[in-house]
Amino acid sequence: MPSTTCIRNAACIVAWDAVKACHAYLMGGDLAFDREAITFVGPRYEGPAETLIDGRDLMVMPGLIDIHSHPSTEPFYRGVREEHGVPAMFMSGLYERSQAFRPDLAARKAGKQVAYCEMLLSGITSIADLSGNDEDWIDLAANSGLRVFIAPAYASALWHMENGWQLQYRWDEAAGRRGFHAALALIEQAGRHPSGRLAGIICPAQIDTCTPELLRESFAAAEQNGLPLTVHCSQSVNEFNEMIGRHGKTPVQFARDLGILAPRTILGHAIFIDDHSWVRWHTPMDLPILADTGTSVAHCPSPFARYGQMLEDFGRYRRAGVNLGLGTDVAPHNLIEEMRLAAILARVAARDITTTSTAALFHAATTGGADALGRPDLGRLAPGMKADLVLVDLANPWMMPARDPLRSLIFTAADRAVRTVYVHGAKVMEHGRVLTMDHAAALAAVIEGQQRMLRDAPTRDWAGRQADEIAPLSLPRWG
Ligand SMILES: [Zn+2]
Repeated sequence: MPSTTCIRNAACIVAWDAVKACHAYLMGGDLAFDREAITFVGPRYEGPAETLIDGRDLMVMPGLIDIHSHPSTEPFYRGVREEHGVPAMFMSGLYERSQAFRPDLAARKAGKQVAYCEMLLSGITSIADLSGNDEDWIDLAANSGLRVFIAPAYASALWHMENGWQLQYRWDEAAGRRGFHAALALIEQAGRHPSGRLAGIICPAQIDTCTPELLRESFAAAEQNGLPLTVHCSQSVNEFNEMIGRHGKTPVQFARDLGILAPRTILGHAIFIDDHSWVRWHTPMDLPILADTGTSVAHCPSPFARYGQMLEDFGRYRRAGVNLGLGTDVAPHNLIEEMRLAAILARVAARDITTTSTAALFHAATTGGADALGRPDLGRLAPGMKADLVLVDLANPWMMPARDPLRSLIFTAADRAVRTVYVHGAKVMEHGRVLTMDHAAALAAVIEGQQRMLRDAPTRDWAGRQADEIAPLSLPRWG
């Protein structure tokens, strides 16, 4: 018999209402789970329980699902990336930054752990980890305690800049193919891992850096193995214009014609679609194509908003029938803050408060992500679902008054009120402390790794500049 934990008399349970097919507030109730799954959600649990938790001051909610993240690199960009953008590249700093600032292998391992810690601290339980295929990844992911969908990224070309405005490509098709096969092998290994918490995603890195053949073969492999596929698509104006130049088609229409848009496909980030105000292409077809093909979108508002860019808009995509999940394409890896920003930006873009709601964002951060990953057993609190859950402290001052606990959490408290996190029935975070990893040691390694990355920037930057010239500090140095 697996050991059962019961959260008794919880003030609030965000329970799955199977009849209405939505989350609903159960104000006062019990939730029981073991290592296999959630076994009970309802007013009163009468079965045996080895562990009892007093739920008087708690909201129990499903663990959040992050369907787009780059744990191996993003932690190194804290203090570097927030205000770095290139105006002559339609504000995107992506290309200049990824060329000039690259953490080394030792650093990347620590980066993953720091990102994983941030995720657990803010109530994320499942993640899509889009990283390079580095050694020890399986062990790092398994030891994190998270549910990790490893997405080893590969490409037929590398971005390259020789001046401050032009995006160039260095093609190496053989490298793309090798990366594809190595990714398949690693994903297979993840799927067999005894933890039961690892899985894989096929990840040709970007729509503009992979050959049509590699994209097609990637999709065929995803179909054959029953896996999701994710690719960056419509993430910058540069990329949009590049694809128009190469094929006379928007990135979404190119992907559709290749046959790679389907319910198993997740596009990061599908912002610059044909009717976006920054491109205004003449074919208003991209959004209906995403809906008709059942393609999901990984929406990550923070990094783009920092450039002055936004999806137009979250509510409109949903009404068109597009499945949206959320991601943290940036540090902090805080999906609660992404929910808040996504709601606000949607309303700003639409100039309409009714375009979206807290409920819609919370669904995206849970069931939207689960559906995108093809995992109906995640993101919902109901018997039979995986025991990935978050206990939120309603007695935290930032939550009070907790008339509407999700609004308190999303619009005010965020991670400050996340008290305990369970993944696969195991407690992995409590009272601000990650129980599975040495957060302090990982942070120390990230600090050192960032120093090396900044030191080496002039050898990589297109203009040979020092890190402080590429990304100046927010204030001048005194004196
Ligand atoms: Zn990304």
